[in-house]
Amino acid sequence: MQGLMQDWSMTLDKILDHARANYPDVEIVTRSIEGPIHRTNYGRVWERAKQVSHALADKRVVQGDRIATLAWNTWRHLEVWFGVSNMGAVLHTINPRLFPEQIAWIANHAGDKVLFLDLTFLPLVEKLAPNLHTIETYVILTDREHMPQTSLKNAIAYEDFIAGRPTDYRWGDFDENTAAGLCYTSGTTGDPKGVLYSHRSNMIHAMCVNQKDCFAVGVEDVVLPIVPMFHANAWAIAFIGPMAGAKLVMPGAKLDGPSVCDLIETEGVTMTAAVPTVWMMALQYLRETGKRPGKLRRVAIGGAAIPETVLRAFEEDYGVEVVHAWGMTEMSPVGTLGALQAKHANAPIDERMRLKLKQGRALFSVEMKIVDDAGKELPHDGKTFGRLLVRGPSVAKAYFRNEGARRPDGTVLEADGFFDTGDVATLDPDGYMQITDRAKDVIKSGGEWISSIDIENFAMGAPGVACAAVIGVKHPKWDERPILIVEPRAGADAPSREAMLAHLEGKIAKWWMPDDVVFVAKIPIGATGKINKLELRKMFQDYVLPSAQAAE
Ligand code: AMP
Repeated sequence: MQGLMQDWSMTLDKILDHARANYPDVEIVTRSIEGPIHRTNYGRVWERAKQVSHALADKRVVQGDRIATLAWNTWRHLEVWFGVSNMGAVLHTINPRLFPEQIAWIANHAGDKVLFLDLTFLPLVEKLAPNLHTIETYVILTDREHMPQTSLKNAIAYEDFIAGRPTDYRWGDFDENTAAGLCYTSGTTGDPKGVLYSHRSNMIHAMCVNQKDCFAVGVEDVVLPIVPMFHANAWAIAFIGPMAGAKLVMPGAKLDGPSVCDLIETEGVTMTAAVPTVWMMALQYLRETGKRPGKLRRVAIGGAAIPETVLRAFEEDYGVEVVHAWGMTEMSPVGTLGALQAKHANAPIDERMRLKLKQGRALFSVEMKIVDDAGKELPHDGKTFGRLLVRGPSVAKAYFRNEGARRPDGTVLEADGFFDTGDVATLDPDGYMQITDRAKDVIKSGGEWISSIDIENFAMGAPGVACAAVIGVKHPKWDERPILIVEPRAGADAPSREAMLAHLEGKIAKWWMPDDVVFVAKIPIGATGKINKLELRKMFQDYVLPSAQAAE
């Protein structure tokens, strides 16, 4: 027997329609690429997103066409975001921090027809243009006044592109499983692979991410998505904002400590989200200036493990609640969030911090399990670690154009329908998951695994450390041994090798103790703001450990 409720295709146009109907005056504030602060609202964004759809239809864009953006978080990007998806075309957000050749490869692989780009990226795109084989129109996200001279063929200023267009475009009216967005993984191994989100998967994900123990964004909130719209849907914030009627504050191109803290204070930001490296800069700025983070009450941190110093600074020094999030592009991206269970809420501070440093419990709609190399399920005892597998309505089953397919139907899943995250993790009886490593970053020493993340977290808390990373290097007896790479904090007394090792003493197992400590001016950061371990391994590929010389 079937239920007797209405069909209501879960397409993303409903989100912006909802915001326009209920919160037309709620603001979207942007630090514009041209410089000044710009203010608009959901009503205006709705109208202009409709104009984007009309302008694209005029360029013969039809459902299923890929339309790319190379853009920071701004109101114009938000208009394009909805204008493209809501007409049934596919919004392909390109990460501008990738290598130029990778950007060209991705745009060609996606078959992008139109590219919307910020002024910042014009020199890059002009250089790449001869190798961009499918793009017919370039729309520069600016107005006529700021439109520069360009060698790009068929380039037009965004404001001219949409000017005078009608606002009656008919959005939606298609199946909720229609593709809405395309985002390539950062491709640290091999070519990047395209994750193709559907309207339904994005809608379900946004609803689940905004539950009370998760992002908890409401109509009284002012939300600053620092996480870029080109990095896995800006963790759903571009959907959650208009769904909830929250004011949005878009940081544009300036993600440094002073610019971020200035927006938090002047716009009354209550909730924000970013990777840990952004927070390390922002916290350093707050410490140095003695300023406070205004009305901020909640910060979501994910994309990489949170260093304990960052967690404690927010919670203990500034009274800001930290929500630790884990996820990946293939998961839309959020998989777990770290709100404490009621029984842990009043635990002693150190116990609460220990739990908050874990990556958190599964979002509703995400199933998780850990398995050994043979695929056998492992116990949830908080100690045993194994490959972390996930399943759910917002988890990828295949990549665009069947890249990396493992089965004849093009999917990449295990036999039981689970997706292998490539992460290694523990699960405890209360459902808290803890990542011990990326499978490829685990250090294999004498047949046992050492977790680089654990050691890094402790090392980042040592005095005078700006950033720390642990990688495995070759060892004749143990296969691999860990070394600790440290970037000292500018202006602080540089820590010594002995001080770093003494700081780790008693915090980690003896046999996890790094065999050496190396100091570098800068630890390389990759395209998504995380420590670039691949680059570090290259830098240290010929490194000979003192302990290896002794063992020979
Ligand atoms: P991406 O697809 O670029 O978002 O990268 C996803 C990967 O980032 C995951 O598979 C994890 O290895 C890592 N990651 C994301 N969030 C966290 C976190 N909170 N703690 C540790 N690693 C994380």
